[in-house]
Amino acid sequence: MKPSTILIIEDNAQNLYLMRFLLEHHGHTILAAMDGREGIATARKARPDLILLDIQLPLLDGHAVARELRLHPETQTIPIIAVTSYAMPGDREKCMQSGTTDYIEKPIDPDSFVDRIRKYLPEIGDPPDA
Ligand code: MN
Repeated sequence: MKPSTILIIEDNAQNLYLMRFLLEHHGHTILAAMDGREGIATARKARPDLILLDIQLPLLDGHAVARELRLHPETQTIPIIAVTSYAMPGDREKCMQSGTTDYIEKPIDPDSFVDRIRKYLPEIGDPPDA
């Protein structure tokens, strides 16, 4: 995996710490936002390679964040992975309807987390961005 910039939108400090730790260990640059509004602002400004999006968030929940990111041209095509402890029937469908690309359930499994998101990041050997 080549180093990427990944935005984590997560209001739980422990979850944020764990995801940041795992991804920084693999050389990625992490941006973080702890509420939905800040997440949207950071995504539009920084245009990360990937967004990890908690669903239960202050100010705007993850579904609303995903819908809004899909409206803005500069964030429309960025992969968004919902990261949520919701295990309700139909929740995955709700995430997909709001525009997320994939869905990971909490608790985060440290052994498989980086592999789960690998396919959404640029591959090693891709030409560097001009
Ligand atoms: Mn949360």
